[in-house]
Amino acid sequence: MKTNGLHHVSAVASDPRENLRFYTEVLGLRLLKRTVNFDDTTTYHLYYGDETGTPGTALTFFPFEGTRQGRPGRGQAVATAFAVPEGSLDYWSDRLRESDAAVHDRRTRFGAAVLPFEDPDGQPLELVEGGVDGSPIEPGGDSPVPEAHGIRGFFGVTLHSAEPAATENVLEVLGLERSGSETEPDDGTERVRYAADGDHATAVDVLHRGPPRGRPGVGTVHHVAFRADDEAEQLAWRERLSEAGQFVTPQKDRQYFRSIYFREPGGILFEIATDGPGFAIDEPVEDLGSALKLPSWLEDDRERIEAALPSLDGASDASVKSEKAAADGGADK
Ligand code: ZN
Repeated sequence: MKTNGLHHVSAVASDPRENLRFYTEVLGLRLLKRTVNFDDTTTYHLYYGDETGTPGTALTFFPFEGTRQGRPGRGQAVATAFAVPEGSLDYWSDRLRESDAAVHDRRTRFGAAVLPFEDPDGQPLELVEGGVDGSPIEPGGDSPVPEAHGIRGFFGVTLHSAEPAATENVLEVLGLERSGSETEPDDGTERVRYAADGDHATAVDVLHRGPPRGRPGVGTVHHVAFRADDEAEQLAWRERLSEAGQFVTPQKDRQYFRSIYFREPGGILFEIATDGPGFAIDEPVEDLGSALKLPSWLEDDRERIEAALPSLDGASDASVKSEKAAADGGADK
């Protein structure tokens, strides 16, 4: 039993409109689903990915307006990397610099060109060239990014574990295999790469030293989810991880997949999510993301839930920003 790689990554944002603008208009991902955080229905849960939300493409956000800024660091996933076609980084570097994104120096890692950047909340992201020939992932049809440069789902994630050896043990329990290690040129940190068996979204890097302890909040990753084929496999994972000493939650119904969670020994929240039933369970593929979707157990509360959520439509980001600045009284976050 081996996971096929990443299922999704969930992160924390501030302004949902700015989040929506950046991931759809700048990165060219599709808004796959607008729903709420099932554990806190006053907050959106926004999913971005490819045309259909193939496992291994979805970056999801909880936009908590008014929540404090986090700091990526030890005990967190500190970078989420997307795969882009060979030769795309010049295009992306220009595109990102024209947007609100902070763009960092390009580097080579395990032989591949990598462009690190941040979203408007400071979320650390990367574009990695290559490894997409024959990829099953195609960018969405309505993307503002030319297809030749479009994001092909995740490349992988970087974990800054507080206990790297223990984290690597867990990755091995999940069926990933160590595929190499490199020393980071800027600070000498050892980066160990693990690879999953699937055909995309398979790289998990573990840093053996690096920035100080992270602080949860805006601009940080909340959890990293790995794939299970189905509920039977997920149940088997639950047993195997429990035997390996992990405290694993009971299964939760996330409407578009079923989930179990555990905090691995390095401090990072891991999830195992089923490939199905998928995002088309409550709206057709062509309509994905166009309306607020609620699971049946929240549908009775729709009116109250909708009233408590900020509107995602109509407000240009400039007007949202100036209103927000006025409401904040100019206070810094
Ligand atoms: Zn999740």
